[in-house]
Amino acid sequence: MTDQMQRIVLASRPDGAPRNDNFRLETVEIPALGDGEVLIKAHYFSLDPYMRGRMDDAKSYAAGIGIDDLMAGGAVGEVIASNAPEFVPGDFALTMTGWATHGIAKPVEMRKLDPALAPITTALGVLGMPGFTGWYGLTELGHPQKGETVVVGAATGPVGSMVGQVARMRGLRVVGIAGGEAKCSMATEVYGFDACIDHRAFEGARDLREALKQHCPDGIDIYFENVGGKVLEAVLPLMNAHGRIPLCGMIAWYNAGNLGANAAMESLTAPRLWQSILVKHLSVNGFIISNHFDRYPEFLREVGPAIAAGQVKHTEDIVEGLENAPAAFRGLLTGKNMGKLLVKVI
Ligand code: NDP
Repeated sequence: MTDQMQRIVLASRPDGAPRNDNFRLETVEIPALGDGEVLIKAHYFSLDPYMRGRMDDAKSYAAGIGIDDLMAGGAVGEVIASNAPEFVPGDFALTMTGWATHGIAKPVEMRKLDPALAPITTALGVLGMPGFTGWYGLTELGHPQKGETVVVGAATGPVGSMVGQVARMRGLRVVGIAGGEAKCSMATEVYGFDACIDHRAFEGARDLREALKQHCPDGIDIYFENVGGKVLEAVLPLMNAHGRIPLCGMIAWYNAGNLGANAAMESLTAPRLWQSILVKHLSVNGFIISNHFDRYPEFLREVGPAIAAGQVKHTEDIVEGLENAPAAFRGLLTGKNMGKLLVKVI
């Protein structure tokens, strides 16, 4: 058995958009396996937008990654040694071993996977944290009602595509917003959205709003917020009274660092935003999915059969090689990914 592993650590904190030199690839000894621990050889790991926030030193719901520390994140792989009775070599598991070829975990930090039931990659995407996020935010905080209109940005990603497909199954009109014609075709042709608008085709929020209006003749009842920025500004005035906004993410501002301390981010957005919420009686609910995993079995009960029946589809964008993770991650933040972004380690 190999006694070395490779991993990517945070070399320095980005100022704005991350650069490749904010990351460092290292070869290190695999630590000795302690009592009750399991050694996993990663097959794939996940690249997710939230990782950008962890690269900052700003206070958030989760601690930032320290300089020289492993880039944290979800991974799926095979157990190659075990000092825990719950796992034996050959088992597959979902773990949080990050951007690395190998990792050590305790059974409580792992979930056993059955590759015969679903490809192991799905535990990082459609059947994992992002898919669950879309389902939970829409159903629990969006309160979707048949005949209503939902708008979702980052429409072809693992969160947005789940939102749109679950909303369609529940009889809503679904309008996506995505970057580029190829993604918009994917939203309508693969995921069955009623319409999808290319936000890159519009310079400002006003023009985007005019386009959105054409596709939302009855206004917007639910805006599933993934992006913020121009898209948020375009959507808000079109919200119907008593509309709901599950506030899931705001990727357009992730490179702005600590928003509370960033004077350049003080714009007219806040007063306009507040006014819209007030006069339209909107419900805006922020949520962090890691607090809601008690609902995961319910998600599996609805979405598992829908995937098997072909009603819920998913797309994976797989990049090969640990060393290519930094560039792929930078691409995720600028919309280069087509579907759930994963790194194949072996
Ligand atoms: P995606 O795979 O959809 O990737 C992110 C996408 O965001 C990009 O592909 C791009 O798509 C879009 N994007 C980037 N910059 C902008 C911009 N300036 N304006 C508009 N769109 C932009 O990611 P996920 O599906 O994994 O995540 C979607 C959102 O959900 C993120 O904000 C993420 O942080 C959030 N999230 C929140 C969770 C929670 O617990 N609250 C849990 C999981 C995810 P395009 O080219 O189409 O614009």
